[in-house]
Amino acid sequence: MEDVGARRSLETELARMAYSDPLTGLANRRALLQSLEDGVAAEEHQTALLLLDLDGFKNVNDTRGHDFGDELLVEVSRRIKELLRPTDVGARLGGDEFAILLRASWSEAVATAKALVARLGEPYEFHDESTVFVTGSVGIATAAEGLGDPELLLRNADLALRAAKQAGKNRYATYDAEFDRRVRRKNELSQELRGAIGRDELRLVYQPVFDVTDRTIVGAEALLRWNHPRLGQVSPGEFIPAATESGLTQDLAVWTVNRAAEQLAAWQNGGIKAWISVNVSVKELHTHLFATEVNTALIAAGVPAKRLVLEVTEHDFSHQMNTLIAQLGALRGAGVRIALDDFGSGYSSLGQLERLPVDIIKIDRDLIAKDDGGVGPLAAVTVALGRILGMEVIAEGVETDLQLNAMIAAQAPLVQGYLLAKPMDPDDLTRWLTEEPKALASEAHPVPRPRDTPNDVPGSEKS
Ligand code: C2E
Ligand code: CA
Ligand code: CA
Repeated sequence: MEDVGARRSLETELARMAYSDPLTGLANRRALLQSLEDGVAAEEHQTALLLLDLDGFKNVNDTRGHDFGDELLVEVSRRIKELLRPTDVGARLGGDEFAILLRASWSEAVATAKALVARLGEPYEFHDESTVFVTGSVGIATAAEGLGDPELLLRNADLALRAAKQAGKNRYATYDAEFDRRVRRKNELSQELRGAIGRDELRLVYQPVFDVTDRTIVGAEALLRWNHPRLGQVSPGEFIPAATESGLTQDLAVWTVNRAAEQLAAWQNGGIKAWISVNVSVKELHTHLFATEVNTALIAAGVPAKRLVLEVTEHDFSHQMNTLIAQLGALRGAGVRIALDDFGSGYSSLGQLERLPVDIIKIDRDLIAKDDGGVGPLAAVTVALGRILGMEVIAEGVETDLQLNAMIAAQAPLVQGYLLAKPMDPDDLTRWLTEEPKALASEAHPVPRPRDTPNDVPGSEKS
């Protein structure tokens, strides 16, 4: 008899262990999923799922040790339990991730999330009398969007949690179908982009840069275009961020530099001396690998390094300045020129600008142009600044005669923009480069104008 009793209690104990988190005594992932399924089976429409993640928990764990981390997690679970009503299920899903299944209306779920964020943000006192400040982020999804599928409910709550983190942490966010769509799109682009080079879906178009003093094309910016068989034309404004998030920019940059070098070789054979600039994100410059790739590409194509310009963006300069300066210095040492892209749209101070090994600054369109076709108030000053610093200056995004004339008056010799030429296929540009000097001389306009619209990706540039 006693045996049976002992076995029963052992069984109960084992069952409890299988469904609970040993550290906090909350339900575990398996138990939560079970409760979600039960809720679905019972067609409980008033179901909301809160997912909670501590902000910067790893920090506490790393600096104070795991025992300390555990103590913090236990206290967090205590605060969660305070908020639970008898019908709710609190769970720890692993690490510092928790969940609460609420049998509650939408507004009650939001109120609970609010209370939770507030409670989690209160200071934590520890046994050694130290105090730690930690906050939490919460994502909310309701059965309305995820009914019938516990996994979907979890996923939606997880997306909401991501949105809360992205919005700055220490807050809650509710599931948002639009955010969901953007995340799906980004994932899809990253996925598809992985094979794009191999499937030959990428190409470069070139937008010429003009010297307005002698009316010649001095160089061209290489711009990526992606034509996916199902997704159609995807603009770089959309796929470059996706590539950056999934670590694909290095492959893209190497591919682009090699195509540009080949184009330079073709021009060189035809006696054309224009340079090509390629956009690179600063990520590439954190190792010396990229500099090696660049040199290899130039040697393979047999073109002098001075024909290649690398455009880097000011926004990226906030981190690891010293590594960056070293890598840019190495590339420059090899003869490649560096352009600071989107100048005036970022945060770098003038002091920083002096330290950067840069040859050219490209003044951002936002400084040059106003939406009504007018000239930005700081355009001329910025051009002068570039000159004082001893750099070449390219004025970007010139769309109207007014803007062009202002740049000429400001003595900005180099201009790029839709007024003069849109990005175009390399063959069209080559034709333009070979015909250009004669064709231009007769034009009344101070700089060359395209006779017909160069073909470019529809939709990616406004016409
Ligand atoms: P960005 O480097 O500032 O490139 C200039 C963008 O402005 C290009 O758009 C160009 O078509 C557009 N543009 C040129 N003239 C005008 C004008 O007069 N008015 C207006 N409104 N726009 C003008 P695109 O080709 O869509 O490229 C967008 C951005 O995508 C680029 O901005 C660059 O940041 C990125 N990107 C493009 N190709 C590459 C690439 O090969 N690698 C990397 N890392 N980024 C790239
Ligand atoms: Ca650029
Ligand atoms: Ca730019």
